[in-house]
Amino acid sequence: MAYNDQNIFAKILRGEIPAIKVYEDDRVLAFMDIMPQADGHTLVIPKAQAETLLDLPAEDAAYTIQIVQKVARAIETALSSKGIVLMQLSGEAAGQTVPHVHFHLIPSSVHKLGRHATEMGDQEKIKGFAEKIKAALA
Ligand code: 5GP
Repeated sequence: MAYNDQNIFAKILRGEIPAIKVYEDDRVLAFMDIMPQADGHTLVIPKAQAETLLDLPAEDAAYTIQIVQKVARAIETALSSKGIVLMQLSGEAAGQTVPHVHFHLIPSSVHKLGRHATEMGDQEKIKGFAEKIKAALA
Protein backbone atom coordinates (compact mmCIF):
# COMPACT_ATOMS: atom_id res chain seq x y z
CA MET A 1 0.00 0.00 0.00
CA ALA A 2 1.22 3.55 -0.68
CA TYR A 3 2.73 5.30 2.33
CA ASN A 4 0.41 7.92 3.88
CA ASP A 5 2.57 10.81 5.04
CA GLN A 6 -0.27 12.19 7.18
CA ASN A 7 0.14 9.44 9.79
CA ILE A 8 0.96 10.54 13.34
CA PHE A 9 4.58 9.32 13.30
CA ALA A 10 5.29 11.11 10.01
CA LYS A 11 4.00 14.27 11.72
CA ILE A 12 6.29 13.64 14.70
CA LEU A 13 9.23 13.15 12.32
CA ARG A 14 8.44 16.48 10.64
CA GLY A 15 8.12 18.20 14.02
CA GLU A 16 4.45 19.02 13.43
CA ILE A 17 3.37 17.40 16.68
CA PRO A 18 5.41 16.96 19.85
CA ALA A 19 6.96 13.78 21.16
CA ILE A 20 9.11 12.95 24.16
CA LYS A 21 12.29 11.99 22.34
CA VAL A 22 15.11 9.90 23.77
CA TYR A 23 17.33 9.35 20.72
CA GLU A 24 17.64 10.78 17.21
CA ASP A 25 20.10 10.53 14.34
CA ASP A 26 19.75 11.02 10.61
CA ARG A 27 18.01 7.66 10.07
CA VAL A 28 16.18 6.76 13.28
CA LEU A 29 14.08 8.38 16.02
CA ALA A 30 13.21 6.90 19.42
CA PHE A 31 10.50 8.42 21.60
CA MET A 32 8.17 7.52 24.43
CA ASP A 33 4.83 5.85 23.70
CA ILE A 34 1.96 8.16 24.64
CA MET A 35 -0.18 5.25 25.92
CA PRO A 36 2.44 3.06 27.56
CA GLN A 37 1.78 -0.60 28.23
CA ALA A 38 4.39 -0.44 31.00
CA ASP A 39 6.66 2.20 32.53
CA GLY A 40 9.37 3.18 30.02
CA HIS A 41 7.50 1.97 26.91
CA THR A 42 9.57 3.39 24.04
CA LEU A 43 9.10 3.37 20.27
CA VAL A 44 11.94 3.20 17.74
CA ILE A 45 11.14 4.24 14.18
CA PRO A 46 13.21 4.47 11.02
CA LYS A 47 12.91 7.80 9.20
CA ALA A 48 12.45 5.97 5.90
CA GLN A 49 8.89 6.12 4.67
CA ALA A 50 7.64 2.57 5.15
CA GLU A 51 4.28 1.43 6.43
CA THR A 52 5.25 -2.03 7.66
CA LEU A 53 8.42 -4.01 8.30
CA LEU A 54 7.91 -5.67 4.94
CA ASP A 55 8.06 -2.30 3.15
CA LEU A 56 11.29 -1.23 4.87
CA PRO A 57 14.48 -1.44 2.79
CA ALA A 58 16.80 -4.09 4.26
CA GLU A 59 19.54 -1.56 5.01
CA ASP A 60 17.17 0.59 7.06
CA ALA A 61 15.88 -2.51 8.85
CA ALA A 62 19.43 -3.56 9.72
CA TYR A 63 20.35 -0.11 10.98
CA THR A 64 17.12 0.34 12.94
CA ILE A 65 17.58 -2.94 14.81
CA GLN A 66 21.01 -1.75 15.94
CA ILE A 67 19.39 1.32 17.48
CA VAL A 68 16.64 -0.86 18.96
CA GLN A 69 19.39 -2.81 20.72
CA LYS A 70 21.13 0.39 21.87
CA VAL A 71 17.93 1.89 23.28
CA ALA A 72 16.98 -1.44 24.88
CA ARG A 73 20.29 -1.46 26.75
CA ALA A 74 19.68 2.12 27.90
CA ILE A 75 16.18 1.24 29.10
CA GLU A 76 17.52 -1.73 31.08
CA THR A 77 20.09 0.52 32.71
CA ALA A 78 17.74 3.42 33.30
CA LEU A 79 14.86 1.44 34.75
CA SER A 80 16.81 -1.50 36.19
CA SER A 81 14.42 -3.67 34.22
CA LYS A 82 14.91 -7.40 34.18
CA GLY A 83 13.46 -8.01 30.74
CA ILE A 84 12.23 -6.17 27.68
CA VAL A 85 9.45 -7.14 25.33
CA LEU A 86 10.25 -6.23 21.72
CA MET A 87 7.00 -5.97 19.76
CA GLN A 88 6.56 -5.20 16.09
CA LEU A 89 3.08 -5.25 14.56
CA SER A 90 3.05 -5.27 10.78
CA GLY A 91 -0.29 -4.62 9.17
CA GLU A 92 -3.73 -3.76 10.46
CA ALA A 93 -4.64 -7.41 10.69
CA ALA A 94 -1.79 -7.84 13.16
CA GLY A 95 -3.05 -4.94 15.26
CA GLN A 96 -0.87 -2.14 13.83
CA THR A 97 -2.63 1.16 14.49
CA VAL A 98 -0.08 3.69 13.17
CA PRO A 99 0.93 3.08 9.54
CA HIS A 100 4.64 3.91 9.88
CA VAL A 101 6.86 0.96 10.80
CA HIS A 102 7.93 0.98 14.46
CA PHE A 103 9.43 -1.23 17.13
CA HIS A 104 7.99 -1.26 20.64
CA LEU A 105 10.41 -1.68 23.54
CA ILE A 106 8.40 -2.52 26.64
CA PRO A 107 10.43 -3.03 29.79
CA SER A 108 8.19 -5.53 31.48
CA SER A 109 7.48 -9.14 31.96
CA VAL A 110 5.02 -10.21 29.26
CA HIS A 111 2.69 -11.28 32.08
CA LYS A 112 2.42 -7.71 33.36
CA LEU A 113 1.78 -5.89 30.08
CA GLY A 114 -1.08 -3.43 29.98
CA ARG A 115 -3.46 -3.40 27.04
CA HIS A 116 -2.14 -2.11 23.73
CA ALA A 117 -2.77 1.58 22.80
CA THR A 118 -5.64 1.91 25.25
CA GLU A 119 -4.95 4.19 28.20
CA MET A 120 -3.22 7.59 28.04
CA GLY A 121 -0.15 7.69 30.26
CA ASP A 122 0.89 10.36 32.78
CA GLN A 123 3.04 12.56 30.52
CA GLU A 124 5.13 14.00 33.39
CA LYS A 125 5.94 10.51 34.62
CA ILE A 126 6.83 9.49 31.06
CA LYS A 127 9.18 12.50 30.78
CA GLY A 128 10.94 11.28 33.91
CA PHE A 129 11.61 7.89 32.32
CA ALA A 130 12.78 9.60 29.12
CA GLU A 131 15.34 11.62 31.09
CA LYS A 132 16.74 8.46 32.67
CA ILE A 133 16.94 6.68 29.30
CA LYS A 134 18.68 9.70 27.72
CA ALA A 135 21.17 9.77 30.56
CA ALA A 136 21.92 6.09 30.02
CA LEU A 137 22.40 6.73 26.28
CA ALA A 138 24.80 9.63 26.82
P1 5GP B 1 0.87 0.02 16.83
O1 5GP B 1 -0.53 -0.26 17.28
O2 5GP B 1 0.84 0.66 15.48
O3 5GP B 1 1.80 -1.17 16.90
O4 5GP B 1 1.48 1.03 17.87
C1 5GP B 1 1.27 2.39 17.81
C2 5GP B 1 1.68 2.94 19.15
O5 5GP B 1 1.76 4.33 19.03
C3 5GP B 1 0.72 2.61 20.29
O6 5GP B 1 1.41 1.94 21.32
C4 5GP B 1 0.20 3.98 20.73
O7 5GP B 1 0.07 4.08 22.12
C5 5GP B 1 1.28 4.92 20.22
N1 5GP B 1 0.81 6.24 19.84
C6 5GP B 1 -0.34 6.56 19.16
N2 5GP B 1 -0.42 7.88 18.95
C7 5GP B 1 0.72 8.42 19.48
C8 5GP B 1 1.21 9.76 19.58
O8 5GP B 1 0.60 10.72 19.11
N3 5GP B 1 2.39 9.92 20.18
C9 5GP B 1 3.10 8.88 20.72
N4 5GP B 1 4.26 9.17 21.31
N5 5GP B 1 2.67 7.60 20.67
C10 5GP B 1 1.49 7.39 20.04
